[in-house]
Amino acid sequence: MDWDILIKGGDVIDPSQGLHGKANVGILGEKISAVGPSVDGDAQVVIDARDKIVTAGFVDLHTHNYTSNSKLPSLDADSTSLANGATTVLDAGTATPSEFPHYWETDLSEAKTRIYALIRMPMPYGPDPATVEQAAAVIKQYEDVLICMKYHHSQHYVTLPLAREASDFGGGILMAEAYGAPIPQLLDYMNPGDIVTHTFHASFRYPLWDHRGEVWPAVWDAVDRGVVLDIGHGARGFSWRTMEHALNKGLRPSTISTDLHAGNVDGPTYDMPTTMSKMLALGLSLDEVVEMSTSIPAKALRQQDFIGTLKPDAQADVVVSDLLEGEYKYLDVLHETRIGKQRIVPHTVIFGGQMYDGPRYEPIDMSHQHDAPPGFIEGT
Ligand SMILES: [Zn+2]
Repeated sequence: MDWDILIKGGDVIDPSQGLHGKANVGILGEKISAVGPSVDGDAQVVIDARDKIVTAGFVDLHTHNYTSNSKLPSLDADSTSLANGATTVLDAGTATPSEFPHYWETDLSEAKTRIYALIRMPMPYGPDPATVEQAAAVIKQYEDVLICMKYHHSQHYVTLPLAREASDFGGGILMAEAYGAPIPQLLDYMNPGDIVTHTFHASFRYPLWDHRGEVWPAVWDAVDRGVVLDIGHGARGFSWRTMEHALNKGLRPSTISTDLHAGNVDGPTYDMPTTMSKMLALGLSLDEVVEMSTSIPAKALRQQDFIGTLKPDAQADVVVSDLLEGEYKYLDVLHETRIGKQRIVPHTVIFGGQMYDGPRYEPIDMSHQHDAPPGFIEGT
């Protein structure tokens, strides 16, 4: 037997190698073994990918998966992320430093989905306090999965410099919400490789531009030094009009992510492929959308040779998707709509060389177009 799994005849899109064309993918064990038009032979499982696109597993840089803590609106990662092609996710600070060991034992170590995590820097005098040193110690103890700190909009501004300090001590990245502080001041705290999420939010406060609509110079500076501008769709993190204005100004997202939690999984976010399809509706190319959902977020996690790529020896996380053509109505967080001509629908999800055959969460129809703008859940 040449391969454990052979994916044949698909349109392979792997921006990490500049690949876009008909090719086959051979998988042995948990690794990608070979990719190319002439890769062929016997296999335990042959997947017919004709008329389908084949990409690396999606890497979603913003989810909430602490399901064993009932105070938080978290989701089971396997049925909401992995089942929809997001083989790797980053839990964006659902747990505090003191909660993290419990989160690890009950959720992270149990999930099939590859989950990396951030912890939230708590208020120094709040109900669940932590010092910079305590936070940094937890980061170091769980360094394989815990890649650093998150600063939330709902936290007092005092936690931003503390989160920065803990990130520096812990040796990881800082993620901050774009509506957590005025953008130029917020970006002052962000180093190369740090992540701004909810970047294209509905500008309720702290917009990306001044009153004339000109992008703050601090935003361009951040782009130049390699700060990652992430989507983080969520219940109020993504607006068509903000993104359209940004694109008109030449400002583009670095990465596509969902901020999936219980408050938006039934709309308007739904899942990673829907969020990716919305970016196609905005005119980003399929190659850009795949790159923003695979190799660029993998690099943000500093795992670009391991995930987000179909290079030989990378982890065999692969998604075979239909790219449907039609008229699809998509919603943003304000329930404004845009019609897209394409829709990405995962058909087969492979993670670490295993076919995913577990449950997939079915969203409840919320008829969002008739709702008031969605509520917002503090702390997410
Ligand atoms: Zn969030």
